[in-house]
Amino acid sequence: MTLRASTSTLREGGALGSAVMRPAGIGHPASEPAFEVVSELPGTRGRAGVLRTPHGEVHTPAFVAVGTKATVKAVLPESMRDAGAQAVLANAYHLYLQPGADIVDEAGGLGAFMNWNGPTFTDSGGFQVLSLGVGFKKVLAMDTAGLARDDVIAEGKQRLAVVDDDGVTFKSHLDGTRHRFTPEISMRIQHQLGADVIFAFDECTTLMNTRDYQVQSLERTQRWAQRCLVEHVAQTRSRAHRPYQALFGVVQGAQYEDLRRQAARELAALHVPGVDGEPHGFDGFGIGGALEKENLGRIVGWVSDELPDEKPRHLLGIAEPDDFFTSVENGADTFDCVSPSRVARNAAVYSRDGRYNVTVTASRRDFGPLDAECDCYTCANYSRAYLHHLFKAKEMLSSTLATIHNERFIIRLVDDIRAHIEQGSYAEFKADFLGRYYASAG
Ligand SMILES: [Zn+2]
Repeated sequence: MTLRASTSTLREGGALGSAVMRPAGIGHPASEPAFEVVSELPGTRGRAGVLRTPHGEVHTPAFVAVGTKATVKAVLPESMRDAGAQAVLANAYHLYLQPGADIVDEAGGLGAFMNWNGPTFTDSGGFQVLSLGVGFKKVLAMDTAGLARDDVIAEGKQRLAVVDDDGVTFKSHLDGTRHRFTPEISMRIQHQLGADVIFAFDECTTLMNTRDYQVQSLERTQRWAQRCLVEHVAQTRSRAHRPYQALFGVVQGAQYEDLRRQAARELAALHVPGVDGEPHGFDGFGIGGALEKENLGRIVGWVSDELPDEKPRHLLGIAEPDDFFTSVENGADTFDCVSPSRVARNAAVYSRDGRYNVTVTASRRDFGPLDAECDCYTCANYSRAYLHHLFKAKEMLSSTLATIHNERFIIRLVDDIRAHIEQGSYAEFKADFLGRYYASAG
């Protein structure tokens, strides 16, 4: 098994290295990203590595902070940097609707627009088109446990997105206007947004869909993947003035092992003529779709088995601290997760002894930090009692301070996972962390 692939790359404005290995077909010799595995976690699929982008390196495993609308809600980019964030992920669907991808392009791309000078990612918008924007998740009837149906809609609600073989037509969640995403449109939008890592446009199914539908959907997503690659090469060629953007294919297949493995194999094998005419494949891979927590490790493992070791793997959207351990052990390198900031705005904060709500009465006269072992700005300067007060008084600073703490907590957790992989002490760290975190949670 060869783990060391591209061992060096040229950085934007950087010096020419001697060991540059250019991914086949990539036409921007001054700025191509590359991925290198630097150590492995014995007995698992886990690894630590480095992903190089035109805007800097991401040391993996890495937590990618979610800034859906080109902002991590309530927090300055400088504070995210101070909290140790290596990269930020925004969403193509939201930025396409508001302010418009052309405006972000004119600003010089996502990073320049939002004053984030590090690596950036954008999600393709596939998931949002089919969930948020159209209210798909919200219009799905909620009392459908155990059902496997392709069209379960809550009473009195209307489906606002229609998938066909060419793309998805949907209504904006902002003003109800009609829009259409195809693989080509998603690629053009993501090139305008200019993130370092972008994702192929896929159909995100739900766990309630029948297997027949999953099969059809997967075939469609695989055809879309090829169209994304073709358009990506065309955009790369026509926008040679911009730094190279890495395109990740997205592996779907729901909870079915055969579908997941097949999807991963096909995406890994997929190549189209690149800018220089040589075969050009995906630069990395995303693992998408609805995942039940108890299947998370298995699904990530099946997919990692089939994907090439020398390419990075991003797990799209996980939630809880234990999910990071599970997915790292099964081969995921980067993760995004909206939870740290979302729950922070609802006064839920992480601590080494579990998550708790700072508005509980016990916090009212507690002048200690949110977490005694946290090294974040909030914990260095503010007390639980102050946060309790801010939330009770509905002050805006409550969201800012709680988000800084939660983001730092998760960033540090994943940083620690990486450090313990490299130092050979992962198992001890995992047992200690999870033992404490979940002991108090019951
Ligand atoms: Zn803190």
